[in-house]
Amino acid sequence: MNRNQVLPQVELSSEVGSLRKVDLCAYQAYKGHGFLGIQDLPRVAEGASTVEAGDGFHWKLETYFEDSPGSLPRQFMNLELKGQIHLVCQRCLKDCPAELSEVRRFALVGSEHEADAFPIEDDQQEPLVASQHFDVLGTIEDEILLSLPLIPKHPEGVCEAHTSAFGVDAGRSEVLEKRENPFNILKNIKKNS
Ligand SMILES: [Zn+2]
Repeated sequence: MNRNQVLPQVELSSEVGSLRKVDLCAYQAYKGHGFLGIQDLPRVAEGASTVEAGDGFHWKLETYFEDSPGSLPRQFMNLELKGQIHLVCQRCLKDCPAELSEVRRFALVGSEHEADAFPIEDDQQEPLVASQHFDVLGTIEDEILLSLPLIPKHPEGVCEAHTSAFGVDAGRSEVLEKRENPFNILKNIKKNS
C-alpha cells in the first residue's frame, strides 16, 4: 500500500514567515515551491557583493513517507534549489555571478540522538530532526551556504588579477583550493555534535 495516497496533502505557503515554522510532526505530506530573494535569506545576503535583478533562489520541496520494515514509516524531504547570487571574484575582486543548482534528500528523524546515530557515510541523504516548528527557510539557507563556491571566481581568462587580490599568486590559491572546504567541516561537525 502506498501510504502517501491516504495522507493529507498540504500545500506549503511560499510566504517567508510561514516557512520558518512548518509542522513536520503532523502525519501529512507537504508540497511547495517559491522564490526567495537574497534579502529573504539574511545569512546568505551577508556574502552577496551586490544584488542584481533576478538574483535569488527558486525552491521546490516535498515531504513523503516510506514504509520501513519493523518500525513506523520514515519521513523524507526532497529539496531542489536553483538560482544565482553575486559574490566577490577572488581574482579581480569584482562582482561575479555564482549559479547554483542542487537536489537534496533528507531523512527526518525524531531526535538529535537519532540524528547522531545516522550513518555518516550516507551521502545520499542527511538526517534532519523533525519538529512541530521546523525551520524550512533555515534549512534552505543552510543548503545554499553549503553549496556556494568557497573561492568564487570568474571563468578562467575572463578577468585579470587585481594587484591586491588575495591569493593572486597561483601557488597560493592552489593551496587554498586543496584545503578542505570549511563548509564540509561544518557539515561533519553538525553531524557529529
Ligand atoms: Zn574576476
